[in-house]
Amino acid sequence: MMGFTVAIDGPAAAGKGTVSRAVARHFGFAHLDTGLLYRAVGAKVLEGMTPEEAAETLQAADLENEDLRSNAVAEAASRAAAIPAVRAALVDFQRSFAMRAGGAVLDGRDIGTVICPDAQVKLFITATPEVRAARRHAELRAKGEDVTLGQVLADVEARDARDSSRAEAPLKPAPDAEEMDTSTMDIDAAVARAIALITLRREA
Ligand code: C5P
Repeated sequence: MMGFTVAIDGPAAAGKGTVSRAVARHFGFAHLDTGLLYRAVGAKVLEGMTPEEAAETLQAADLENEDLRSNAVAEAASRAAAIPAVRAALVDFQRSFAMRAGGAVLDGRDIGTVICPDAQVKLFITATPEVRAARRHAELRAKGEDVTLGQVLADVEARDARDSSRAEAPLKPAPDAEEMDTSTMDIDAAVARAIALITLRREA
């Protein structure tokens, strides 16, 4: 069977991860959180490696690092992600993952535009910066990070601005992506909508 790829893009903390995991579970697809690749690169940069070297030597074990979810790593990831050589080093791994038999969901910033322009389903998930910052703040606090809501909002906005304005693979919806604003939608509604859309395309 040919691969069936679901591309889910959007800014930080819009709900991509939650929707992706639920969709993967529902359809039995494999799931790749591509942000984790950039975070693993960012973590190695914080340890002193150059971004290019970190991307070129990235290994599966690097994705197990427990600190990858921190704000400091997200910031380093976003800086490294603007470097074309870093992005280039991660393309093949993502494309092979997308083509695996049995279907795959990839979530990130450039999946529908650059990594998998031929994906059968493309979603672009957004929410207002305030809603996204509140979600990320709750997550970080639950992990014991001592940050204020204002600080998280500033970080999220700075990261989105950098991700959207970079020359290489900027964050933006593919022309054929279905946009979903989760600001006032609860998670069950967002998941149900994604599942309905994918079901339609699978039957097409
Ligand atoms: O999605 P997450 O917040 O984990 O991503 C961390 C950073 O990695 C993003 O801010 C972005 O700069 C970068 N990224 C990217 N392309 C992707 C996924 C993540 O540039 N496909």
